[in-house]
This record gives sequence, C-alpha cells and structure tokens, in this order.
Amino acid sequence: MQAYPATIIYGEYGKVVNKHLGHLSEEDLGGKLSKLLNKRQYKGLNTLQESKITFEDKLSQYGFHLRRTALKTIQISVGKLCNQTCIHCHVNAGPKKTEIMTAETADRVLKLLSNSSSIDLVDFTGGAPELNPAFRSMVARSHSLGCSVMDRCNLTVLFVNGQEDLAEFFKNNSVEIVASLPCYSRENVDKQRGKGVFDKSIDALRRLNSLGYGHEGSGLRLDLVYNPGDAFLPPPQETLEKQYKKELWGQFGIVFNRLYVMTNMPISRWEEYLERTGQEGQYKELLINAFNSQTVGGLMCRTLVSVGWDGRLYDCDFNQMFEIPIGGRHKTIWDIESFDEFNDGIIATGMHCFGCTAGAGSSCEGSLINS
Ligand code: SF4
Ligand code: SF4
Repeated sequence: MQAYPATIIYGEYGKVVNKHLGHLSEEDLGGKLSKLLNKRQYKGLNTLQESKITFEDKLSQYGFHLRRTALKTIQISVGKLCNQTCIHCHVNAGPKKTEIMTAETADRVLKLLSNSSSIDLVDFTGGAPELNPAFRSMVARSHSLGCSVMDRCNLTVLFVNGQEDLAEFFKNNSVEIVASLPCYSRENVDKQRGKGVFDKSIDALRRLNSLGYGHEGSGLRLDLVYNPGDAFLPPPQETLEKQYKKELWGQFGIVFNRLYVMTNMPISRWEEYLERTGQEGQYKELLINAFNSQTVGGLMCRTLVSVGWDGRLYDCDFNQMFEIPIGGRHKTIWDIESFDEFNDGIIATGMHCFGCTAGAGSSCEGSLINS
C-alpha cells in the first residue's frame, strides 16, 4: 500500500505550522486525515476565539474604539416566516416558522420611530417580510413619517398565494427593493436557494421592470444581492456588477440599479453547511486573516439599530442571531422612548464581526470600500 507524508499547517493565529504526522495511507488521506485536519484547524481557531485575539483586540491594534454615530437606519426583522429555505440563510427562516412580529409590537416600533429625530430609512427584513400581515401597514406608516422604505425581497414571494398585487403595492408606496440573486446562472441559484427559484426570480424581475423598477430615472430602485455560493469571499463589487448587468440584459432583458456583494456570515444554516462540508475552521480563519482596517469606519452597526420580531433590540441582524443585545445590555422597544437613545452608544461585538471587515468589507448595502 502506498503511504504519503502528511503535514498539518495551522493558520496565522493557530500558531503551529508544518506539524509532521508521519506517513499515512491513501485511505486515511481521503477520509480520516481530512476530518482530523479540519478538526485541528477548528480547534486552533477556538483557542484563538477563547483566549487569543478578539475583534476588540484587533480594532485596538489599529487604534479604533467602535462607537455609534447618529442613527440613520432602523432595520426591522418582522419574522422568520419565509417561502424558501436557502442553504446560506443566517436567520434559519422557512415556511413553518412561527416567530413573527405581532401588530402590537409593530405599533410600538412605529411609535418609537415617530419619536426619533435622525432616522431616514426603514429597512424591512425577515424571513420574507411581505408575509407578515402587518407589513403593508408598517410600510405605509413609515412613509407617512417621512422615511424611505427598503424591502429585502426574495423575489419568489411575488408568486405566493395572496401576494399577486405585491409588485403594484411596492410601486404605489415607492418601496426600494433589494432582491437576492446570488448568480445569473440557473444552476448556481437553484443549488443555493432551491429548485425552480431561478426561473421564478427572473419572472419576478421582469414583472418589476415592467412597472418601471430598475430603469434609470424612474425613481423606482431595484438593487440585487450577490453572496458567494461556497466558502470564499465575494469578488470586487463593481466588476461583478458589470458582469451581472451584461448577463441579465443579454440573456433575459433585465435591468437593475446596483449590485451589492455580501460576505456569508458563519451563522446558523450557513455555519451548519460549513461544518457539514468540513470548511468551518478554514472559513473563519479566512475572515480573520482578511481583516481590513479601512472597512471599520463604514460598519453598518455605527448608524443602524436592529429590531427583532419580538421587540428586542440589537446592534445588527447578525448580533440578533447570536442574541447579543444592543451595546451588551438587554433592551426592548418597551424599555425606551426613542431610538435616539442609542446615538453615540457602544456596540457589542464578537468573532463573527470579522465577517464585516474581511476584504472589501460587507454590510446590508454591500461592500464597505470600493475596489
Ligand atoms: S435567505 Fe432569505 S429567502 Fe432564503 S430562506 Fe433566508 S430569509 Fe428566506
Ligand atoms: S457583525 Fe454587526 S456588530 Fe459586528 S461589525 Fe458587523 S455590523 Fe457591526
């Protein structure tokens, strides 16, 4: 039987490099070693997480102390109910989820918004936000308070029973649409988001285009979101946007305004996928090693408050998934009188924050710096 020399190389912070394991058989290389390698790399990263460098330490190395400025955006997670179950979903959303914002909670959020001075954007997210029965009234009331409204739309929701007039509703209420389309190829989209999702997404984009969405000068904004299909960082936003525009126009006659590229966060369903495919350790290490200090000033948590479906408050959607409360202290919408209370406040961080500062950075509005 042939034997191969085997070496384990830990990453920059995992310390040990070139640890020789002796000679292993082909069988071991194919199975046991790959498991061992991933486990040991992950263990190295855990050690790092527990006792070595933290996100705070990293910021300190560059002289940063992360604080909020004035709030601009309130991001409302109206629930986990969704008509899809994508593999990268950090919310773990799906058709059977029952966590959904009640009308009473929605009323209180709108009341706080009316008491707040600097917020000019209300960003609805989910699940599929449109499936919450209070969604349409929240949109209309946000507008009446002088805020722009953004909806994070999965596109296929336009074809859910009872949502036949959704596109017109968007248009009549000047809702900005940020729609997920992780590729312009059927195969890649269906692999990540489910069979048949690509064709429905294309139909939905055509429908939105026919109402004026995505056309320059129409005032109806349609942005798309790309996220990588596997454990790598997104490519440069401008380059990929050009490619998307060319392909979507050439193949389907579709137009849109901007493409946002987002890094996949190792949380929830995406973390489980990384674990299952043995890539978790390497991916987390990749995010840490790709730290870019130029992204820190633009981190979305500096100007955003995230409201959970149950009224709890967070520094961002990702902290919400980890249940890390806003500024590190538990607060709900019933504990405050205005979102202004968080202006200039502290921000709670964790190891997942390296996902926002890797490479060109990542936020709900794409890269943080231009390539
Ligand atoms: S990624 Fe979006 S569309 Fe997909 S399951 Fe999660 S919330 Fe639904
Ligand atoms: S994960 Fe949230 S708190 Fe951490 S850097 Fe990103 S936006 Fe800020």
